[in-house]
Amino acid sequence: MFNEEQRPEQPIRLGMIGGGRGSEIGYAHRTSAERDGFFNLVAGAFDLDPERGQAFGTNLGLDPNRCYPNYLTLLAHEAQRPDGIQALIVATPNATHYAISKAALEAGLHVICEKPLTFTVAQAQELQHLASQKQRMFAVMYGYSGYPMLHQAREMIQRGDLGTLRMVHAQFAHGFHSQAVEEHSAGAKWRMNPEVAGPTYVLGDLGTHSFHMLELLTELEVDELCCMRQSFIPTRAPLEDNAHVWLKFKGGAIGTLWASSVNAGSVHQQKIRVVGDKASIEWWDEHPNQLTYAIQGQPVQILDRGMAYLYRDNPAICTRIGGGHAEGFLDAWANLYHRYGVALQALEQHDQSTLSTLWYPDIRAGISGVRLLECCVESAQHHSSWVKFNLNAYQ
Ligand code: NAD
Repeated sequence: MFNEEQRPEQPIRLGMIGGGRGSEIGYAHRTSAERDGFFNLVAGAFDLDPERGQAFGTNLGLDPNRCYPNYLTLLAHEAQRPDGIQALIVATPNATHYAISKAALEAGLHVICEKPLTFTVAQAQELQHLASQKQRMFAVMYGYSGYPMLHQAREMIQRGDLGTLRMVHAQFAHGFHSQAVEEHSAGAKWRMNPEVAGPTYVLGDLGTHSFHMLELLTELEVDELCCMRQSFIPTRAPLEDNAHVWLKFKGGAIGTLWASSVNAGSVHQQKIRVVGDKASIEWWDEHPNQLTYAIQGQPVQILDRGMAYLYRDNPAICTRIGGGHAEGFLDAWANLYHRYGVALQALEQHDQSTLSTLWYPDIRAGISGVRLLECCVESAQHHSSWVKFNLNAYQ
């Protein structure tokens, strides 16, 4: 169970780029970062519009002198302060992740960046190299991976409860963009513009979450994949609003991944199903406190968060309140921010034993997501041909 007594003596001074007024994900970062006392937001460049960003930061209660017009000014001024920021959240649209993260690392900051991490694997690797050189933490905000029941699933797979893995299906297929909503929504519009979103739309926006979940649970390594992608709303071309990916893993297991924003009638439909030769498990983010576990030939079991029968010696199967009370999205995010806080302090204190056992989505997860996108684009461009994933060649 989480316990507020674990609070650090001094919170980490945090800055934020993006996440301004009306943004989709800014609030989730701020409230989750501060939940357990590890982080204290003290500075920001929250908005493309400098005046709106400065007014927003001031309304959050920040010192107006630390609400900056842009990220370069923030980095320059914070570096001059004895109490300057130590870590930076990058919550801007995709095109800016690389440049802002790079500048932050060069300024000696720890970074928590949104997904998809960068446009290319080469850029993501450059960030990895820089983070390692500067000995800074680099986390990628795959927020769903903070849900405890996903870690129960991972633990069950590792302990062999499912037997040998055969098949995985992961999907994130909502219906919010079944019509051309981007005509009236700035937050939707940039997602379909290659200059801002990158080489993909739903694959980067949604598919990277599913892919990370798949890697987290199974630790299967992709050997090759093929991808079919469409723009059902033609004006979204060349970017896709729907994509299906077939995956072949090393060792013989296979998988499918479906990313869509035109799955009309659905809210999120983010699900993962893992099938072994003995049993299967299934998780759905609209009911995140439950995990379905089905052993072949036996009645289906619904496992609930917080219950004594879970593998609770795994600290990631953490829980903030007893079973039966629903935990949700912001709790999952706070779980991750708690881990980032622990990781960051361990790094500062050269505490290798904590670092070697602590799990959080780091830059390797970000790179893997970007590699997925590169492979999918290449496959789709070549009539959905099979493409070698070959991530090791990049690391
Ligand atoms: P949004 O369009 O709703 O908000 C973006 C915010 O960033 C706005 O306030 C905008 O003014 C600001 N901004 C843009 N460029 C900026 C710049 N150069 N400097 C400072 N501020 C700038 O976008 P969003 O939906 O919040 O998405 C932001 C990022 O978060 C994207 O990369 C997206 O993929 C990711 N995201 C992740 C999750 C998740 O679950 N992890 C969920 C939603 C979005």
